[in-house]
Amino acid sequence: MNSSIRNGSSPRIGIVSLGCPKALVDSERIITRLRAEGYELSPDYEGADAVIVNTCGFLNSAKAESLAAIGEALAENGRVIVTGCMGSEGSKILARYPDVLAVTGPQQFEAVMKAVHEAVPPPHDYKRDLVPPAGLKLTPRHYAWLKISEGCSNSCTFCIIPRLRGPLVSRPVREVLLEAERLVESGVRELLVISQDTSAYGLDLRYAVEIWKDREVRAHVTDLARELGRLGIWVRMHYLYPYPHLDSLVELMAEGLVLPYMDLPLQHAAPAVLRAMKRPADEEKMLRRIESWRKICPDLAIRSTFITGFPGETEQDFEYLLQWLEEARLDRVGCFAYEDVDGAAANALPNSLPTEVRAERRARLMELQAKISASILAARVGRTTEVLVDSIDEEDDLVIARSRWDAPEIDGEVWISRALASGAQPGDMMKVRITGSQTYDLEAEPA
Ligand code: SF4
Repeated sequence: MNSSIRNGSSPRIGIVSLGCPKALVDSERIITRLRAEGYELSPDYEGADAVIVNTCGFLNSAKAESLAAIGEALAENGRVIVTGCMGSEGSKILARYPDVLAVTGPQQFEAVMKAVHEAVPPPHDYKRDLVPPAGLKLTPRHYAWLKISEGCSNSCTFCIIPRLRGPLVSRPVREVLLEAERLVESGVRELLVISQDTSAYGLDLRYAVEIWKDREVRAHVTDLARELGRLGIWVRMHYLYPYPHLDSLVELMAEGLVLPYMDLPLQHAAPAVLRAMKRPADEEKMLRRIESWRKICPDLAIRSTFITGFPGETEQDFEYLLQWLEEARLDRVGCFAYEDVDGAAANALPNSLPTEVRAERRARLMELQAKISASILAARVGRTTEVLVDSIDEEDDLVIARSRWDAPEIDGEVWISRALASGAQPGDMMKVRITGSQTYDLEAEPA
């Protein structure tokens, strides 16, 4: 069923947002622009005059999901604009779906708005300002993703992000801090700092210094984190590439300015595999560094992601990774079975592994990590800590909260009986005592 443009009311645009938090931030930017121009947002296909599909093109499975979403939007609405990472493969999309109105690539906000204007003209009589200073968010009101740069200048062989999104382009530090301040003023209690490579922030700007609140602040991850911490909210750092200068960030964590949480995608531990991935390959040094970070900040939680079944990964390499994980005892671990991504340099590497081997190794890794996670969480029982309430689960009569060691939608939760915390609302900070633990989640009661 094709929808036609309705008369007499504001034009309405629907948005389907796929992919990672970085893509979500792009969607937030698009909906902010739409609202600023007087468009309304439609929660369903039926009420929309056109639909924007913000795609993900990181893995082939994500591309398939994006293509399916475009197909669904076409079938349900008929007037579809495609943007995001997969938009850089416009010919593939148009070959499959010639009726798509326009295809634009990642971060091409002007091109998306131009396509929207052509599909659904903006209202002429629009005068009101419906956009709050902090912009519009797709996350709950109490936390927000803060994107500090675009693109990436590394060349990990399994990844096509640098090709899709270009080299590192950092936002000026004052601009990031102003956005952060506006978000805090609008009620945000936790900022999640993201980019493709957060550790490299400012490198392209030569760490340019700007004045912020009478202080000189460099466009550098440490300076930025310190200033964000001074806003008095939770600051969580994501996608840290393992550079040595992270040591100074850990010191800020120990001081309590930044959450003791490090999202550090390591991908593997076996030196041969890391070299083939074109990643830093000194895993022994990495272990020692983690040890020294834990000395500086004993409460530090480390999240990482790994890839199993990379081309050429031998059973010994994989066993080495398992041993490394037993030693490192990382708090949170995600794992992907290797996928041949179109255009990735790793596809040309010899000794590609059968998909069953990739998946079986992933399952073995996750089984080991489940044991490590359960034992780390069990050791937290009895501790008192602060949590941030995310939601209320009416069905199970629980307050769903999160500790400093857990990022939303990725890590575990802290469950508190509503009978013990009846007035709790999303966005509240609570002091709790941890009373029980599961494999990935904790149980607690108000302290
Ligand atoms: S650092 Fe991340 S985004 Fe950059 S190339 Fe490597 S995997 Fe891709």
